[in-house]
Amino acid sequence: RDADWQRELREQFPIVTAHPGSVYLDSAATSQKPRAVLDAVQAYVTTSNANAGRGTYPWANRTTELVEGTRERVKEFLHDPEPDHSAVHFTSGTTEGLRTVAHDWLMPYLADGDEILVPFADHRANLDPWLETRRLLAARGVEVHVRALPYQAVSGDYDHRALGDLVGPRTRFVAATHVHHVYGGDMNVHRIRAAVGPDVPICLDAAQSVGHLPVDLADPALDVDFVVFSGHKAMALPGTGAVWARNTRGPAFRPAGWQGTPNTVGIVSLRAALDWLETAGLDRVARWTAGLTTRLTDRLRNLDAYEILGCPTSLAAGSALPTAQRRHGIVTFRHHDIPSDDLGFILYSHGFMVRADSLCQAGAAEKDGSVRVSPHVYTTGEEIDRLFAVLASLA
Ligand code: PMP
Repeated sequence: RDADWQRELREQFPIVTAHPGSVYLDSAATSQKPRAVLDAVQAYVTTSNANAGRGTYPWANRTTELVEGTRERVKEFLHDPEPDHSAVHFTSGTTEGLRTVAHDWLMPYLADGDEILVPFADHRANLDPWLETRRLLAARGVEVHVRALPYQAVSGDYDHRALGDLVGPRTRFVAATHVHHVYGGDMNVHRIRAAVGPDVPICLDAAQSVGHLPVDLADPALDVDFVVFSGHKAMALPGTGAVWARNTRGPAFRPAGWQGTPNTVGIVSLRAALDWLETAGLDRVARWTAGLTTRLTDRLRNLDAYEILGCPTSLAAGSALPTAQRRHGIVTFRHHDIPSDDLGFILYSHGFMVRADSLCQAGAAEKDGSVRVSPHVYTTGEEIDRLFAVLASLA
C-alpha cells in the first residue's frame, strides 16, 4: 500500500521526524535529505576525503572514482541511451547550470542573424542567461534575435502549434522548462521536438522534474540536448546540481573550469540521493506528490477567497482537472484579501513552511506575491488536510 510505503520513507528523514509540529512544504525550493544521503557524506568525509583527479594515494583515487562514478550514475538515472557520447558537468544548481550552457556552449555557437527561442514566463534562471548571451554578443557586433516561446492561454503549457510558426532556418536553439515552478504543470516539452524539427538543440530546465518524476531520455519523446537540474531539490546536499549534455547536435559541451576542485561532498550526496530515489521508485514518488497536490487543489478551488494560479477559472468547481493541469507537487495560490506574505506568516504560526513571495518568476506575475505549497514524498495526506483546514478558516 502506498500509505505504508510512504510512512517507511518519511521515517528516513531526520529533520521531519525531529520536528513533529512542523510541516515543510517548500520542497520546490529545496528538498529535505534522507538519512542515507547524510550517512554517505559522513562515510566519505571520515574515510577518504581528498581532492579528485590528482591521486597517487588511495583517498584521492577513491575520490576520483566517486566523482567519475557519479557522472555515470547521473546518465543511468536519466536513462541516457548513448552514455559514450554524453557529458555530465557538476554545478551548484540549475541557475549555474543554465548559465554554463549559455556561456560555454551557446555563446560561441551563435552567429550574426541567428535566432533563439526562450521562455519568458518561467523561472528567471531560464531567461536571464539567454538575454545576457544576446547582450554580450551584441557588444561584439553579433546580433542574435531572442523570441518568446509561446504559451497556451488555458492549459499554461507551450503552444507547440504557434511554436512551429516561429521556427525558421536561422533557429539555432530552444530553452524550455519541464515542469513549471509556479503552476506545477507539465509543460509538454515532448511536443517541442516535433515542432522545431530534428536539428535544433533543446535545453531543458528540469529543476522541478528530476527527483520528482521519472525523466527518461531513452524515450524518443524526450529528445532534448541538455538536461539541467538541481541535486539539492532531489534529496542531495545544498550546492549541488548537474548539466547532462547529449552532445550529438552542435559542438560538444566542454565547460570551462573542469580542472578545478569539484564539490566532492555534494557529488557524493548526489549519488546517494539518486540511489535513494530510484529505490523509492520515481513513478510512486510522482503519484504520491501529485495525489497530495490534487487533494489540496480540488478543495481549494471550492473556496471563493482563493485564486489558484494557472488553474483555469472556466473549470467548474468540483470538476476534475484535465490532464494538462495536473500538478507535479506544486500548488500556488493567492487569497483575495490577505497579502501573500501575511498569509505565509499565518501559515507558519500553524507550523506550515511555505514559499510566500514572487517565486522568481519572469514576466508579469512577478509583481504580485503568491503562496506556493510544494510537498514531497515525506509529506502526508493528513498534513495537507490540516493545511487546508487553516486555509478554509481564513476563507
Ligand atoms: N529553474 C526552476 C524551474 C526552478 O524551480 C529553480 C529553483 N527555484 C531554478 C531554476 C533555480 O535552481 P537553483 O536554485 O538550484 O539554482
